[in-house]
Amino acid sequence: MYDVIVVGARCAGSPLAMLLARAGRRVLLVDRATFPSDTVSTHFIQQTGLALLRDWGVLAAAVGDATPIRYMTLSFKDIRISGFSDPIDGIDAVYAPRRTVLDAALVEAAQSAGAEVRQGYSVEELVFDDEGRVVGIRGRSAAGTVSEERARVVVGADGANSTIARLAGATTYNHVPASCFIYYSYFAGLPWSSFHHRTGHDEQQMGAWPTNDGLHLVAVMRKRPRFRAFRAADEANFQEVVDQVTPDLGDDLRQAERVAPLQPMLYPDNYYRQASGPGWALVGDAGYYKDPYTGNGIADAFRHAGMLSSALLSGLDTDDQVLDTALRAYGAHRDEETAETYNFTCTISELDLPSDIYDAFDASSRHERYRTEFFRLLAGATPGHEFFAPERLERMYREVGFQPTVGA
Ligand SMILES: Cc1cc2nc3c(=O)[nH]c(=O)nc-3n(C[C@H](O)[C@H](O)[C@H](O)COP(=O)(O)OP(=O)(O)OC[C@H]3O[C@@H](n4cnc5c(N)ncnc54)[C@H](O)[C@@H]3O)c2cc1C
Repeated sequence: MYDVIVVGARCAGSPLAMLLARAGRRVLLVDRATFPSDTVSTHFIQQTGLALLRDWGVLAAAVGDATPIRYMTLSFKDIRISGFSDPIDGIDAVYAPRRTVLDAALVEAAQSAGAEVRQGYSVEELVFDDEGRVVGIRGRSAAGTVSEERARVVVGADGANSTIARLAGATTYNHVPASCFIYYSYFAGLPWSSFHHRTGHDEQQMGAWPTNDGLHLVAVMRKRPRFRAFRAADEANFQEVVDQVTPDLGDDLRQAERVAPLQPMLYPDNYYRQASGPGWALVGDAGYYKDPYTGNGIADAFRHAGMLSSALLSGLDTDDQVLDTALRAYGAHRDEETAETYNFTCTISELDLPSDIYDAFDASSRHERYRTEFFRLLAGATPGHEFFAPERLERMYREVGFQPTVGA
């Protein structure tokens, strides 16, 4: 009998298992994948997430030889903002490590902490007691052996298509349909030393940043109705988006060598799921997913793993009622602290900024101090309600001599 079974061993599951095991808990961590292995992602980790990796003692292993990023250029149609934030939580660079590197380091950290790790193991069923409380899992090893394991709590850290959420009957709320699709790949020989996240006219986007092995990840995004047409000539269309959104970078890409196939994905919808129920909880994308535009998925998964670990540690030695209350409080905290970013992400991922946000970004682009503050907003270090506070915007517009199109 385990204290906790964690299903899914990437950004959310491995840190949770590590933290519980470090606190002396008996933890089983399972994943149908084996590690190192890849998953669909563009890898960018915010400073707040990197600070957690540092605090956990796994930062160096988690980023490997990924190139540090200390200069970023973002554009929205005709606005272009270049610079970087001040250090956040003591972190003065961002990284975008391949998931083959990051996730393997996280699994290793969980194992070193004392969690029992079972790779190539797929969970197929939940085990319930007579009162409908989750008390375990049934799963299948890669060799086809079916086994049952019992625990006080089963945690689904099993991603957007969470089996645990489905089997537990977790409800979904604040659902917002996805806006875009993405194509991305890895390129050698690009001379770009910084990060680009550029949104052009005509509802399309490109992103490019360095990762491990001296390679760059390059991604393009368009609205979902254009997916079928894009797919019909994906290589030419990939180059076309880069040429149209960033004419200054298109030639570099033509000269570079693509070292992996183009990876397409229709983004999943944005949602929250009920974070817990009797004997179960969800963490990471299993419980909360939003468009990758603002690059918060990985850092959120780390932070929520920490929050869920605290809730579990406070409740595991108590009765079911107290434990369930602690898990509900974790869910309420998750929803409250992400609400602002969630709404902002769902808005900006439409690739057409409302005028008031466009004005605020336009004015920010005109002065170094405000550019730095803009990058703090993007990193999640400055909350939206502070950045967009009317009195702050008025002061900024006055100082940079900007006439907003919308009354500030
Ligand atoms: C195209 C794209 C680009 C992105 N780019 C970024 C970015 O640049 N920065 C950022 O911060 N976020 C990004 N994200 C989001 C980020 O990838 C996720 O938020 C993050 O991976 C969530 O981690 P997780 O551990 O919750 O889930 P996942 O990474 O999805 O891991 C879930 C794990 O559960 C396992 N699993 C699933 N079902 C079972 C089962 N039944 N039994 C056993 N194991 C199971 C899977 O094998 C998998 O290993 C992006 C997402 C997408 C789709």
